[in-house]
This record gives sequence, structure tokens and C-alpha cells, in this order.
Amino acid sequence: MTIWNLGSINIDIVYAVPHLPLPGETLAALSLTRGLGGKGANMSVAAARAAARVVHLGAVGEDGAWAVERMMEYGIDTRLITTVDGPTGHAIILVDRAGENSIVLHPGANHLISEDLMGQALSEADTGDYLLLQNETLLQREAVTMARDLGLKVAYAAAPFDAEAARGVMSHADLMVLNAVEMEQLRAASGQDLAAIGVETVIVTEGGSGGRIHRAENGWEPEHFAAPRVEAVDTTGAGDTFTGYLVAGLDRGLPLRQSVELAARAAALMVTRHGTADVIPDLKDVQATRF
Ligand code: ATP
Repeated sequence: MTIWNLGSINIDIVYAVPHLPLPGETLAALSLTRGLGGKGANMSVAAARAAARVVHLGAVGEDGAWAVERMMEYGIDTRLITTVDGPTGHAIILVDRAGENSIVLHPGANHLISEDLMGQALSEADTGDYLLLQNETLLQREAVTMARDLGLKVAYAAAPFDAEAARGVMSHADLMVLNAVEMEQLRAASGQDLAAIGVETVIVTEGGSGGRIHRAENGWEPEHFAAPRVEAVDTTGAGDTFTGYLVAGLDRGLPLRQSVELAARAAALMVTRHGTADVIPDLKDVQATRF
């Protein structure tokens, strides 16, 4: 089947700095690197690395052609990524010597995805395909409504947390993935317990402790899953790798538990590497690693 990912594409511009600048301070950077990022692109790369067929629905500016090319090299179908006026979404990331960071995010083209194009794209989807979405684009509500009409399954990573987007999507989603902080934000914003939200399966990730699966069919009794023990050097993109692999596993017909375990192995390998989209491990590496 196919995963249709309505997702952000960002350029991550990372400056190493001696310390995070104070208000009014001008600071010389020690180095500059530029890479592919954005939760949407990361999840598309992860799902494609996990051998799924992935079509990415998104937008970039003229300055984002290389990012799209790179996604294509990772095996993602990029024909539904449009080029719009203005900048590609980007993150200016400052990292100090202690690894502490400050981030300024500009949504750019990610907020200019055309609803018409999204409709045309999803009309090509087959019943049983997955729609995957996060909160770094707009149009979540429109996308899930369309997906439901077309008989698609909906997987929603509620990150970064956005109460309004969550309200529009949750009751239509089959699967929701969030980290422990986002779960707290959801509880605070909705005031509801999981049973009232209307999603069949909610997975809460808890970093190096693994996480919990909550399923309607099991009366919402949390089932723990473990994270393989590794020496973590950079946890950026762990959650995106987890979600991309998880949906790829489900799309391939693996049972939920097995898909979660595969996702946890992929994310564990990911945290042993420095970087984001460009270092998401492929399925062979994940299968070959003994933790
Ligand atoms: P990030 O924002 O860093 O991408 P996140 O906050 O969305 O991640 P986490 O809960 O930190 O999500 O991590 C997602 C999954 O990645 C975890 O459930 C776990 O399987 C794996 N993971 C994260 N950190 C570690 C670690 N230190 N060791 C092993 N696995 C990890």
C-alpha cells in the first residue's frame, strides 16, 4: 500500500556558537551546516528507509530544490511537492558547546500547500492506504475529512503540539503518536481521558524508557514497550524515525506490537548517530543491529 504524508519540509541551518547569544549581543559562529529537516520530511525519509512506498504532499520555495532532490534520492515520491513563492520552511538552530540549543522556526512554504492539489493527490489514493500528518503544515482537518471519505487510514503525530489542530484530527485518526510532554499538553487542553478522544490506538513515547501503547480494544490499559539500550549521542529526530517506521510497519501488514518494536529499534539506532533526516537508518541496518 502507500503512505501519503502531508508534511513539512524544512532546511535546518545549524550554527555552532560558543554560547547562546544574550539580548543585543552579536556573536561569531564557529561553524555552519545545512541539512534536510522538518517533521514531515523526516517521517517520509524514515518510512521510505523502512521500505514503504511514500508519497510526500508538501511545498518548498525556489531555495528548496535540493531538499526535494535529496528526498527523491531516499526513495520518496516527490511529484506532489510544489514550488511556491517565498522561502522554504527553515529552522535557524544555534547549538552551544554544552549541546544546549535555541531554535527559530519559519514555516515558509509549509503554510502554502494548496488545498486543491491535496484533494487531487488524495483522490489517487487507494482504500486502505495511510494518510500521515503532523502539525507543521496547515490543512489537517481538510485532509482527514477527505481521507475518511476515501477510506484511508489516518496516522497522526500530534507534534509540535497544537490544541486546535489536534481537536480537528483526533476523532478521525486510527493512530496517534505523541511524546510524554505532548500527552500532558493534550490532557490539559482537552480535559478528556483517552477513551473520550475517539482514536483507537494512542502511542506515547518516553525517550530512552520506550513508551506505552493504549488501545481501545484493551480497555485503554497501558502496555509498556522497551527501548533497546544504546549510547545516545543525539536524540534529534528520534520521534520522527519512530513514527515513520511504525506507520511503515503497519502499512506492510505487521501487527501493532511488532511494528512498535521495529520502530523502537530504528529510533534506538538513530540516537547513536549525529544528524537528522540524512542519518535515519535503513531497514537492513536496523535488522542487522544487535542491541
Ligand atoms: P525527538 O523530539 O527527540 O525527535 P520525541 O521527544 O518526539 O523525540 P522520544 O519519546 O524522545 O520522542 O523518543 C521517541 C522514541 O525514540 C522512544 O519511544 C524510543 O523508542 C526512542 N528513543 C529516544 N531516546 C532514546 C534513547 N536514549 N535510547 C533508546 N531509544 C530512544
